[in-house]
Amino acid sequence: MLRGSPERELAAWWEAEAVAGTKAQAANEQVRVDSGAAGEPERKAGEEQPKEPAPAPPCAAEEGDARIPPRPPPTLPVSLVKPEPVSGLCPHGKSRIKGRSCKRSSGQPDEYCSLRPVTVDSSKARTSLDALKISIRQLKWKEFPFGRRLPCDIYWHGVSFHDNDILSGQVNKFPGMTEMVRKITLSRAVRIMQNLFPEEYNFYPRSWILPDEFQLFVAQVRMVKDGDPSWKPTFIVKPDGGCQGDGIYLIKDPNDIRLSGTLQSRPAVVQEYICKPLLIDKLKFDIRLYVLLKSLEPLEIYIAKDGLSRFCTEPYQEPSPKNLHHIFMHLTNYSLNIHSGNFIHSDSTSTGSKRTFSSILYRLSSKGVDIKKVWSDIISLVIKTVIALTPELKVFYQSDIPAGRPGPTCFQILGFDILLMKNLKPILLEVNANPSMRIEHEQELSPGVFENVPSLVDEEVKVAVIRDTLRLMDPLKKKRESQSQLLGKSLASKENPPHSDLASASQGNANPDAHLPSICLKQVFPKYAKQFNYLRLVDRMANLFIRFLGIKGTMKLGPTGFRTFIRNCKLSSSSLSMAAADILYIDITRRWNSMTVDQRDSGMCLQAFVEAFFYLAQRKFKMLPLHEQVASLIDLCEYHLSLLDEKRLVCGRSGTSSASRLQPSGTPQEAAPPAPPAEGRPQPCTDGAHKVSHSRHTVS
Ligand code: ADP
Repeated sequence: MLRGSPERELAAWWEAEAVAGTKAQAANEQVRVDSGAAGEPERKAGEEQPKEPAPAPPCAAEEGDARIPPRPPPTLPVSLVKPEPVSGLCPHGKSRIKGRSCKRSSGQPDEYCSLRPVTVDSSKARTSLDALKISIRQLKWKEFPFGRRLPCDIYWHGVSFHDNDILSGQVNKFPGMTEMVRKITLSRAVRIMQNLFPEEYNFYPRSWILPDEFQLFVAQVRMVKDGDPSWKPTFIVKPDGGCQGDGIYLIKDPNDIRLSGTLQSRPAVVQEYICKPLLIDKLKFDIRLYVLLKSLEPLEIYIAKDGLSRFCTEPYQEPSPKNLHHIFMHLTNYSLNIHSGNFIHSDSTSTGSKRTFSSILYRLSSKGVDIKKVWSDIISLVIKTVIALTPELKVFYQSDIPAGRPGPTCFQILGFDILLMKNLKPILLEVNANPSMRIEHEQELSPGVFENVPSLVDEEVKVAVIRDTLRLMDPLKKKRESQSQLLGKSLASKENPPHSDLASASQGNANPDAHLPSICLKQVFPKYAKQFNYLRLVDRMANLFIRFLGIKGTMKLGPTGFRTFIRNCKLSSSSLSMAAADILYIDITRRWNSMTVDQRDSGMCLQAFVEAFFYLAQRKFKMLPLHEQVASLIDLCEYHLSLLDEKRLVCGRSGTSSASRLQPSGTPQEAAPPAPPAEGRPQPCTDGAHKVSHSRHTVS
C-alpha cells in the first residue's frame, strides 16, 4: 500500500462527494416507498452462458423504425422513474426525428437541428439490456434492439468483443479481456508486477498456480512454517474460470487430500486466505466497484463513485478446522448467500445483505474512520491492477484490430471485487470482465412461483454506471458542444429578446446534459499518471514485443522476430552470442507453451518474452534491483530502436524526391535520437521512480 501525502491527496474530492451522496441517499430513504427487494447474483462471463440464440433480425424493419418493439422496458417503481427530459428537443420544441428537419423562422444555422441522436446497437446486450435501455432513454439516444444495416455509433455486447463482427464505431468490450481476468492469467500478470515492485503490489494475496506450482506451493509453505512455527495459515482454492464461488474451498494444509485429488483435473489458483476481514454487524462483506477502461492507448481509467457491498449471512469467525466448510461465513458471493435462511432482502440501500458501498463508507466515516485514506488506497489498487493487465491487452488488441485496418475502438466496464481488511487495507479478490448489470432479481412469491422484482440497490448503482459510461463515450459530444457554442454566439449577435423561445432553447441546449445527474465516473488516470507511470515497465516491454511480432494478427514472437529484437537492440555481445540467444528463446518458449492452454500459435508469448527480458536485464545490469535492471534495459532498447528509425528516415529521405512525405518504417518512435542511456547507472527520481534518460513513448 502506498503511503504519503500525494496518495492521500488522490481521493480528497471523493470523500466529499461520496459522503454527500450518501447523506442525501440516507435522507431519501426515509421517504422512499417500499418497492421490492434488493439483490441478484453478481454474475460473470463464465456464468452468462454465452450461446443463447440471438434475436432474429426483423425482416421488414425499417431503419430506425421506432415501431419495432424491443423487449418491454422493465417496470420501475414510481419513485424511480425519472421525468422525461425536455432538452433533447429541438429549439422549437419538436423532437428530433430522423429525416425530418426542423423548420426555422429565425434563420438559425441548419446544423442546429440536424444533429442526429447517438445510435446504439443493443442486440447483443443480454442481461445488461434493461439497464442499458433505461440509460439510452435518459440520454435521448436511439436504440437499435435488433441491430442495424448501417453502422451504429456504439455496440453494447453482453459477453465479449467477438459477440459481433464490427468494423467501426465503439464497442464496450476489449478483445482478450475475458482471458486476461481469468484467475490464473490475472495472478500471473500481478505476479510479474510483484517481482518488479513487491511493496506496491502487496494488495493481491500470495497465489500459486495449480497444477504447475503445486510442489513450489508445498515447499514455500513448509519453509515459512519452519521459520515461524506459530504461523497457522489458511488457503483458499479457486478453480480457474470459475465464478459465483463455484468449486471454491478452504484448506489448512497444502497436502489436503481434496487439493491433491483435483489437482490434475481442474487448473486453479491457491491463495493465502485473508483471515482478518473488516466486519460490519459481525459479518464479512466484499465490495464490487465499477471501473471504466475508457482507452488503452493512451491509458484512461475512471472509477464509479458508488458500488455494491455483498454480505455473508453467518457471523464471521477466523478459520478453524471446524468452520472451514461454512460457506455462508467465509464466501461473500450473493449467489451462495441467497440460499441461506438468513439472507435479508432490503428496500433500503444501507441495510440487508446487499447494500451500496457509499452506505458502508458513510457508516465507517460516522465511526471516525479516515475514508479518504480508504478511497485513496482503493484508487491506487485499481490503477495498479489495470497497469498489470494492459500490456497483454495491447497484444490482444493489435492482433484483433491491427493498426491500419478498419475496426472499432473499445472501452469496457470492469467489476473489481475488493475485500477490506480489519486494518482497512483493500485486497483485490478478482476482476470481472462482465460484471452483472442486471437490475432485477427473481423472487419466489410462493413455492414454485417466481417473479422478477426490480432491485433498488442494483438499479441505483448500475444504471448510473452504464449511462455515464455512454456519456463519456458520446461520439457526438464535441460536435454538439461546438454547435451550441456557435448558436449561442449567433443568438448573442442578433440581440434576441431574453425570453424568446430560441434564446431559452439555446441556453437549454448549451448543456444538453443539464437534466442528468452529475457524472458518477471519476477519472483517475491520466489524472494521477505522474504517481504511477514508473510502474509501466511491462507496458514498454509489450511495445517492444509488438514491434517485433511481424505478421499482423499474431500474438506470439517467432525465432526470427526474437533474433531481430536482439540484433536491433544491440543486445548480443561477446558474452551473449546469437546462438545463446537462440537457445534462450527455445528454452523459455518451450516451457511456457507447455504451461499455457492456448496452443493456437507457436512461438513466444508476452509472458515468456518478459521472462527472457528479465534474464537479459539481470545479466547486463548485475548490481541493481530488478526493476532498475529492467528499466535500464528498456531504455537501452528504446534508444537503439530510435536510432534505427532515425537512420531509416534519413535513408528514406535521400532515396526519394518527395522525401518530406515519408514516414520512418516500423513502429513510430521519437523523431530525434535521444542521448544514450547511462548503462548501469540509472538516475533515481526524487519520488523513487526510475528516471529514464529519454522520453518514454508509451506514457500518455
Ligand atoms: P468467484 O469468481 O467464484 O466469485 P472469488 O475469487 O471472487 O471467486 O472468491 C469468492 C469469494 O471468496 C469472495 O467473494 C470472497 O468472499 C472469498 N475470497 C476469495 N479470495 C479470498 C481470499 N484470498 N481471502 C479471503 N476471502 C476470499
